[in-house]
Amino acid sequence: MVRVSVVCCLKLLLLLALGGVTMHVPDEGVLAPLGPLRLDGHLSFHDLATAARDFGNRCSLLPAAVLHPGSVADVAAAVRRVFQLGERSPLTVAARGHGHSLLGQSQAAGGIVVRMESLGGSAMMRVVQSGGAGVPAYVDAPGGALWINVLHETLKHGLAPKSWTDYLHLTVGGTLSNAGVSGQAFRQGPQVSNVNQMEIVTGRGDVVTCSPEENSDLFYGALGGLGQFGIITRARIALEPAPKMVRWIRVLYSDFASFTEDQEALISAEETFDYIEGFVIINRTGILNNWRTSFKPQDPVQASHFQSDGKVLYCLEMTKNFDPDEADIMEQEVGVLLSRLRYIQSTLFHTDVTYLEFLDRVHSSELKLRAQGLWEVPHPWLNLLIPRSTIHRFAREVFGKILKDSNNGPILLYPVNRSKWDNRTSVVIPEEEIFYLVGFLSSAPSASGHGSVEHAVSLNDKIVDFCDKAGVGMKQYLAPYTTQQQWKAHFGARWETFERRKHMYDPLAILAPGQRIFPKASLPMSS
Ligand code: FAD
Repeated sequence: MVRVSVVCCLKLLLLLALGGVTMHVPDEGVLAPLGPLRLDGHLSFHDLATAARDFGNRCSLLPAAVLHPGSVADVAAAVRRVFQLGERSPLTVAARGHGHSLLGQSQAAGGIVVRMESLGGSAMMRVVQSGGAGVPAYVDAPGGALWINVLHETLKHGLAPKSWTDYLHLTVGGTLSNAGVSGQAFRQGPQVSNVNQMEIVTGRGDVVTCSPEENSDLFYGALGGLGQFGIITRARIALEPAPKMVRWIRVLYSDFASFTEDQEALISAEETFDYIEGFVIINRTGILNNWRTSFKPQDPVQASHFQSDGKVLYCLEMTKNFDPDEADIMEQEVGVLLSRLRYIQSTLFHTDVTYLEFLDRVHSSELKLRAQGLWEVPHPWLNLLIPRSTIHRFAREVFGKILKDSNNGPILLYPVNRSKWDNRTSVVIPEEEIFYLVGFLSSAPSASGHGSVEHAVSLNDKIVDFCDKAGVGMKQYLAPYTTQQQWKAHFGARWETFERRKHMYDPLAILAPGQRIFPKASLPMSS
């Protein structure tokens, strides 16, 4: 567990000066003389502990100050001032979305954390309806907006973004800095493939509008760019007519080959479901967890007899959007699609919910876990992208040998198609056309034993070690690397471009220090 607390008096004095409070700033040869900075928002020092926390709950780096920007100009002014201080100043700047990183990625030890949600209000969102042929609808959303609020705002116009994450209490800038993947990605691509334009504050403090046509190098660099090239203050996101209702279906398999073949057939078909995911249930005791909670069995008699006999099971999860006036057409289409699948017949469960209820599904689980004190526990998650050609070898070793149960959190497993990912972005994915997202979403509620961080991390390490030794061709998603060497290996041939962009847009390595990719010249590389 990394737990570092840094309070630096010099930086505090510096920050007070940044905030416009006239203070004597001692010239230690490090700090350049500063004039006061005028802000529409404010700097604060009372919420440093909050800015030093994240969802992973395993890393705490105390910043010197938190900026609550009142405008994009505030973000630009703060970054520009830090840039002007030069490379010998130890100050860095981290944009904090909703702080749902896993290992300090949105933190800044002794630096400035920018609370992006201060600029995330729905008053700052603008929905533009389709202007007819060739002019698709879009929303201009602040980088600090939560996706759930983007959804609420666009639904007022009968519209919605096309590509999602499983959980919507994440920010636009936060997920676009990673990729943004969910069960729609097989058809729509990840969220980074559904952005038309962005406004970005670079590491020099310049405010730049970029798109595939204008400043395209910055545009593609920042998508999946781990916050390294600029702070996304606005994103123009493509919209589609919002579906009204969703038929949400789960079925079980006991055979991994049939499960993945069916998943792959579904993501490759023209006529198919609208969302396709899956998860793995490892329960050697035979007692099934709540994989079907709130679902109606299609055949209650058969379903009540179904029980696991201790085998590993695989759950395929799908949805079909529909208009209640045309429910019979949906029933027919779903019937045809299901008839082609090879799941265990007695395990067909489904329920009908609104589009909003479906997309916000993880929030209901969050509320339940919060009520039990199980949300704010450490989350030693591991997210892997595994090529199709090695997924069976991976499954045999990991689900057959390394893991004994899945009681500490869901294990997601679903395929996506590479052709839907724009290879000009900074996102790193396996080389094959079909690859799987495999997410081990562990919680560690106890200090020792099976529910501890140490236990989960040792299993994660075994899985990664196996992938490396067996040449699985895996790439990590939301990678928690701590050395530049690891990052170079992660980027492979793309490292050169990534590094060039860093020199171009954030030459002093001020931004997103918590990713631990480029140390600021005056700071040692953390590990
Ligand atoms: P933060 O964690 O605050 O920031 C993430 C990184 O981006 C940091 O380096 C930060 O400095 C930088 N950053 C933040 N805002 C900006 C900005 N405006 N401009 C530039 N850089 C910025 N991911 C998926 O792809 N699919 C999922 O289905 C999914 N489900 C999730 C479910 C849960 C419960 C959780 C906790 C996370 C999930 N994630 C998923 C991961 C999610 O994409 C990351 O947590 C991501 O970090 C977004 O969180 P955030 O908005 O809080 O950003």
